[in-house]
Amino acid sequence: MEFAILAESFNKMEATRKRLELTQILVELFEKTPHDVISKIVYLIQGKLRPDFEGIELGVAEKLAIRAISKSSGIPIKKIEDEYRKSGDLGHASSIILEQKTQTTFLVEDITVERVYETLFKIAKLGGSRSQDMKMKYISSLLNDATPLEASFILKILLGTLRLGIAENTVMDALAIAFSGTKENRKKLQHAYNVSSDLGKVAETIATKGLEGIEKFEIILFNPIRPMLADRVKSEEEAIEKMGNEFAAEYKLDGERVQLHIEGDKVALFSRSLENIESYYPDIIEKIPKNIQADNIILEAEAVAINENTGEFLPFQELMHRRRKYKIEKAVTEYPITVNFFDILYCNGKSCVELSYKERREALEKHVKEDEFAKYIPMSIVKNENEIEDFMENSINAGSEGLMLKMLDKPYQAGSRGSHWLKLKREYRNELGDSLDLVVIGGFFGKGRRTGNYGTLLLATYDEDEDTFPSICKVGTGFSDESLDQLYQILHPKVSIKKNPRIISEMEADVWFEPELVIEVVASEITLSPIHKAAKDVIRKDAGLALRFPKFTGKIRVEKAVEDASTNEELLTLYKGQKKVAHEKNLM
Ligand code: AMP
Repeated sequence: MEFAILAESFNKMEATRKRLELTQILVELFEKTPHDVISKIVYLIQGKLRPDFEGIELGVAEKLAIRAISKSSGIPIKKIEDEYRKSGDLGHASSIILEQKTQTTFLVEDITVERVYETLFKIAKLGGSRSQDMKMKYISSLLNDATPLEASFILKILLGTLRLGIAENTVMDALAIAFSGTKENRKKLQHAYNVSSDLGKVAETIATKGLEGIEKFEIILFNPIRPMLADRVKSEEEAIEKMGNEFAAEYKLDGERVQLHIEGDKVALFSRSLENIESYYPDIIEKIPKNIQADNIILEAEAVAINENTGEFLPFQELMHRRRKYKIEKAVTEYPITVNFFDILYCNGKSCVELSYKERREALEKHVKEDEFAKYIPMSIVKNENEIEDFMENSINAGSEGLMLKMLDKPYQAGSRGSHWLKLKREYRNELGDSLDLVVIGGFFGKGRRTGNYGTLLLATYDEDEDTFPSICKVGTGFSDESLDQLYQILHPKVSIKKNPRIISEMEADVWFEPELVIEVVASEITLSPIHKAAKDVIRKDAGLALRFPKFTGKIRVEKAVEDASTNEELLTLYKGQKKVAHEKNLM
């Protein structure tokens, strides 16, 4: 397939932010795409080469790209740098420069999607001392044969600056329309995506095997399954109302969710946002295979930091010490953990997600042996408010956050938040009833003691309908010096020159971040605001929701995907809830 077709589509996609228009451009592109390249096209659209969990990074530095442009075009480095400075985007700058150049250049051969993809893949795989030269050779050979438009997009992919703002849902809508005639079939694709986390594979399946292939789509060992999530309830009473008269209560431990894929000694570990986290947990890799009584298995557990002397659970932040590249062995001994299993999703070649909770718990206890390091999450079947309260008491005393309540007869719903699992936290840590998980979209440089850090952050909710991140507040309190440093380390690499099109904000930040990080905040109230964009126009025309007195709780939720952040819907429920309370107070 000619790369020019893809470059043209990229060009059109860059010009719009509207989901419907993006979908239409994608449908037209997919219809022109041969089936054997569709997976590659789907990855490239998202600026990737493979699904995220494989962790393949292109990692080409700007300097190297500039040298490669210079080498392939004969234009001096200085001139390229000047143009780059003017436009702020090297991809764009290169197309302007090469435009001037091609008037005298004779193009050698058309480049194909396959060639671009394979070359990028080789670049991503290169390492070692000679890798810079090799990378440069590969890049300049591609640029040699590329038109200015093609070159600009090749560079954007290489540098990680292709930001079309296309979410998975939009890609799935387009795939459903292109290959089954209607968007209605998105749900079936969603299921395949939920159990594989690989959109390229989903695209290839629907293109080559149609809907039938999608319906037969099975769990693949070592491909992470998108996690099931829980709704929140505020009281034991509300839990009983929603759950009926008998259900399971489990401790809600405050650690990191880990999905384990094991076959013999081979182990893969994925975080809640499906990132590969093996390097942080060498102890899990080493010890857990001994506890498994099955040929292969997929399990879910909460890894929790513990006090080795008392066995007490420690808060999530303790695990952050393990998020380092070097001296991980030291961190492993300094911050010991236990692995607390709560679900089984696959065993001996068969899916377990269709089994009921009760059957899964039995299977878990059958196939995993307990010891000092590997535990089953404490669970009790409860029938009334008293029993929930008693178990809650035990859970809080052990150092956990509260309870997870789970329906006994329900399957595991990969990738969805629903009422089959509920979370009930003990303390209502603020006047709103619960903390909020918000997406960091922008930053403001700090002053005084905070110079050199981002002193204030701009935060957003997740709008599920539009697939965007509308602003909700600025937050500048609750930060310790340590957390400011830590946030800077995490956020600095996410700075983007252009505001990602999924960010909706009228407020101008000093820097925009790629929407990738979730932090926890509390606040005193939700108010209407003419500036912020969350749930805009829903309560009142031209007003969005904003948080009053927001405060960072200290929890950087690195394990959460931005699509798991608090949604507009949740904010609206909280807003309406507080209005009712205020109203009742006035009546009294
Ligand atoms: P939240 O982060 O408040 O939405 O709560 C969901 C998270 O709680 C999950 O992603 C898990 O990391 C964690 N968790 C702790 N205990 C359990 C449990 N028993 N079952 C499921 N998830 C749990």
